Amino acid sequence: MSLSHPATSSKLSAFFHSIRFRLSVYFVLALAVIMAGFSAFVYVRQSQEAYERASILLGLRMRDLDQAFHRTYRDYGAKDWLGVPGTGRYSLFTLEEDEIIVLAQPDGEVALHLGPIQADQAAFLASSATENETGQFFTTEILNDGNENKYVLSSTAVQSENGILGWVTLGEPVDPDDQLPRLLLTLIAGGFLTLLAALAGGYWLADRTLKPVKAITRTAQEINEKDLNRRLNIHSDDELGQLAGTFDQMLDRLQAAFTRQRQFTADASHELRTPLTIVNLETNRVLSSADLTKESRRSMQVIQSENEFMARLVNELLTLARMDAGQIHLQFEEVDLSDLALEVAERFAPLAVQKKIRLEVGELPETNVQGDRHHLTQMIGNLVENAIKYSPDGSQHWVRIETGSDDQANPPSVWLRVSDNGPGIAPEHLSRLFDRFYRVDTARSHNPSEGEADGDIPGSGLGLSIVQWIAQKHGGEVTVQSQPDHGTIFEVRLPAA
Ligand code: ADP
Repeated sequence: MSLSHPATSSKLSAFFHSIRFRLSVYFVLALAVIMAGFSAFVYVRQSQEAYERASILLGLRMRDLDQAFHRTYRDYGAKDWLGVPGTGRYSLFTLEEDEIIVLAQPDGEVALHLGPIQADQAAFLASSATENETGQFFTTEILNDGNENKYVLSSTAVQSENGILGWVTLGEPVDPDDQLPRLLLTLIAGGFLTLLAALAGGYWLADRTLKPVKAITRTAQEINEKDLNRRLNIHSDDELGQLAGTFDQMLDRLQAAFTRQRQFTADASHELRTPLTIVNLETNRVLSSADLTKESRRSMQVIQSENEFMARLVNELLTLARMDAGQIHLQFEEVDLSDLALEVAERFAPLAVQKKIRLEVGELPETNVQGDRHHLTQMIGNLVENAIKYSPDGSQHWVRIETGSDDQANPPSVWLRVSDNGPGIAPEHLSRLFDRFYRVDTARSHNPSEGEADGDIPGSGLGLSIVQWIAQKHGGEVTVQSQPDHGTIFEVRLPAA
């Protein structure tokens, strides 16, 4: 069993590559550096303060100790001057909790050690006390019960008239209440939680800030040449507002250019129709006169057929330009698709006869739709003409027109099918078949020098885009199924009236 679904992993990878995620990570990294610096500063500062506090205390306690020694010698002798916390015994110098004291004999041997210190460390302090300068502070880690505690210490000699009686080393804990480790823990935990909150907050903020980008992407995806009047309309003074504004201006210019181009196509096609009609009339007139050489007649026939092709192309272009410009207004009425199919079949019967193709009309039940009679006829005509046009000549070929209704569908629909057993269309072309100017075999595109007799089937690649436009304008759709060498089925489905 695979652990990650490809869609999930691509979503995850999109998430990790998103600006939102990267922005939040950079933000958190920057914050982490700042917080680490700040925490280090606070910690070091607190450590220094603790050391200073302990040093001041040690200074005071050393003074008390000195006084205790003087009185001891004058009034009591050398004993009984040192008290231990908790014993309740009267003494001149009572050790505070956590304080340590090490008394050393003149030779550096330990005479007595009190407070949280182990014997071996006391021995070390005693032996080194002789070398310590009186009044100078030093720090060391004192080990007790497995805990290391930092101490600030100072040593002094115990003097009498007879010379040095010994040495005493007094130590104050730098951090008696364990505040520093707690501070460190607080800084780390607080820092971690802050970073977590910053990551969530940063992501939320980045997400909010980048919302207009999402809107821009979505709109850009939805816009196509037929829907150029959409705008982003994001009116803010920030960078994204400027981007959206620039994008909208670009769309204005594009729309204007498309409109001009459509207008030009419509105007040009319209203007071209008159000269093409005149050429047609003139060639007909010349062809009908008897005194033409065989050569001239052949040339005139080529001119006439090319003129017909051009007139058709111009008509289709004009239709498309008008469709795009919204100049075609459909006249909806209740029409029976079967009636129109029959009309078209009658119109194309001569062409089928000419190609020796059987044009069959299947069952034509009543199939009423709300539609534009003229355009629906044009739609069926284009499909039937293609089926006859692309089928090779010969009586083994047939083209069939059928209609029917699908009352079970929701909403109920009617269908019209034009099928043939012609050459079929290879699967790789099917998805682009309804694109403008798309023709399956480019080698088969119109080439007047070869003539139709050589297998050249004239066409503009516009017929099926017109069929699709008409079907869609009627709230329906057109689909195609085809198998190379077996034939093609075009099916139009429209909502029933
Ligand atoms: P054209 O003007 O070239 O006929 P269409 O848009 O009507 O333009 O058709 C596009 C392409 O679809 C044609 O070039 C043709 O190759 C293919 N085609 C359409 N109908 C059929 C069919 N019934 N059988 C085989 N090919 C077809």
